[in-house]
Amino acid sequence: MSSAVADLERVVKEIAEEMRQRTDRGEPASYIPELANVDTGSFGLVVIDNDGTVAAGGDADMPFSIQSISKVFTLTLALGKAGDRLWKHVGREPSGSAFNSIVQLEYEHGIPRNPFINAGAIAVTDRILSGHQPKEALGEILRFVQFLADDSSIAIDRTVAESERRTGFRNIALANYMKSFGVIENPVDYTLGVYFHHCSIVMNCRQLAMAGRYLAHSGRNPATGHRVVTPERARRINAVMLTCGHYDGSGEFAYRVGLPGKSGVGGGILAIAPGKASIAVWSPGLDAYGNSHLGRIALELLTKRLGWSIFGA
Ligand code: GLU
Repeated sequence: MSSAVADLERVVKEIAEEMRQRTDRGEPASYIPELANVDTGSFGLVVIDNDGTVAAGGDADMPFSIQSISKVFTLTLALGKAGDRLWKHVGREPSGSAFNSIVQLEYEHGIPRNPFINAGAIAVTDRILSGHQPKEALGEILRFVQFLADDSSIAIDRTVAESERRTGFRNIALANYMKSFGVIENPVDYTLGVYFHHCSIVMNCRQLAMAGRYLAHSGRNPATGHRVVTPERARRINAVMLTCGHYDGSGEFAYRVGLPGKSGVGGGILAIAPGKASIAVWSPGLDAYGNSHLGRIALELLTKRLGWSIFGA
């Protein structure tokens, strides 16, 4: 075993142990009833480096709801279908507002700021849906995630999707509001149905880190040899993750962690160290911005100890 691999494995185990002992764990997402009861005691971390070494710590195999992390995969899919025309329907500037905010939409004529706030992700989902039935679009998204992770066992938790559909009043408002500007093309119920379901995809840290590898390696998954996107597109998706991946906590995440990343209210974060590694972390307790509290701290420790911040060691 090389010393770099030994270092990586040691650092991952150390961080998992440090996180297990912490008492400040954040609060689970209470606005989705199915997620409100998740135990905040869990913590998982997986790093897959460019040689394919998998360093795992804590609850690396425990499945969780990926929620907004799915927006990275739907953005990739929608760019593949629509190319740069997608940017007519959604911007790529940080929003500085909460993940489910509606205020900006009025000023900006129903065009969401970026593909990672809820309004933006709903608009992107609508693009994927156009020309298809909701079932087909959802099947396509799920198969794409399975392909990225090279794992056909990945599935959707329909109870979580249903729980969100019943209580997703904000998202319903956002979608209707965008529909009034003609930004949403399909029936709002259909678009939201697909959106709630792709947010409810369940993965563990191992699968998620694997699915993110194409972003760490210029658009190609080195494990399967599959080219997913061009190097330019991978670079640009990483740029949007860096600037917009943590809602109004994106500046803080860049400041502390220094990697492109996307969080979800299920407590997961996918982070990319370009050219080095794909990283998945999960701990269900959230901070005030809706990002995993311990997940962010763990990534900060990881990039510091390994000198992986894209802004320098
Ligand atoms: N499905 C969640 C919602 O639409 C995703 C939010 C998140 O993970 O940040 O509210």
